[in-house]
Amino acid sequence: MKGRRYGLIAIIATITVIAIMITASSLPGYLREVGNLHQPFEYAQMYLNDEPYSELIIEYDHAPGFPPSIVAMELLEERIYQYTDKHLVSSMVSDEIDFGDTRKVYHEEHIYSLKNDYKDHHRGGDSMVIHVTYLDGEWKEDNVLGLSYGGDRIVIFMETIINVAQRSQNIQAVDIESSVLVHEWGHLLGLVGIGYESGHEDPEYQHHCDESAGSCVMNADIEIRMGRYSDPPPTDFCVLCQEDMLRIKEMEDEPGLEEYLTIGVIAGIAIVAVGWILVLIPKKEDKKQEFDVYKEHYNEDFGKRNY
Ligand SMILES: [Zn+2]
Ligand SMILES: [Zn+2]
Repeated sequence: MKGRRYGLIAIIATITVIAIMITASSLPGYLREVGNLHQPFEYAQMYLNDEPYSELIIEYDHAPGFPPSIVAMELLEERIYQYTDKHLVSSMVSDEIDFGDTRKVYHEEHIYSLKNDYKDHHRGGDSMVIHVTYLDGEWKEDNVLGLSYGGDRIVIFMETIINVAQRSQNIQAVDIESSVLVHEWGHLLGLVGIGYESGHEDPEYQHHCDESAGSCVMNADIEIRMGRYSDPPPTDFCVLCQEDMLRIKEMEDEPGLEEYLTIGVIAGIAIVAVGWILVLIPKKEDKKQEFDVYKEHYNEDFGKRNY
């Protein structure tokens, strides 16, 4: 009887340890994915490292008449190979956005719904995905050439870029487009100072490079004041932004909602297991009873022998 109880206790203890190990290793990741609880730097790490995604797909959807140029797409691929551990980067020009879904002026809600309606590729397996949408018309604020949001989405205002290029003698639309595309990808990497302290963030334009180490694609002018440039704008990161990328690669998560929920689930498993084990542990009264029975029997025997 006792042997069977100890066997059950050992099984419960083993199952509990296995359940806790599985919960601790996979639940936080699952909750992050389902609840979209990623910190900006966690997306950045998905781009910078070859784990868990060794490949990167860049999906381009565009308004009629404003497709991405091959030159800009190839430059972004080149920068990704240059600064990340990805083994394979593929650019896919996916859907043309229906004319009826386009606008003269875009607000947040238009951009969110466009991306959801035209999205073909999903993060999973070996592949990380960036969704890039090329639009006609303009953003609700003047002179915005590109946007990034949500860790994996980029918007390029191609019609606005073409208009800016037409005002310049030396700059082609493709120069601006290439620069803005790399710039927005830089924001997806967390540049500059998104979720961490950077020593070279522009005090006037949050999350942009102050160019204290020389010309840089993360300068705010690329996105909002292209008129400043008389030559093609930079398309590469300065050394300080490159150093930030290395720092972001090493950054560690601070406990968030998913970790607290995981601790709660583990505590629940442990309480149930301890409850079962307490029920199964042999009680002290049992031992005492057995001892009394033995004494009685002995006395009886003794009496018999005396007889
Ligand atoms: Zn920017
Ligand atoms: Zn920089």
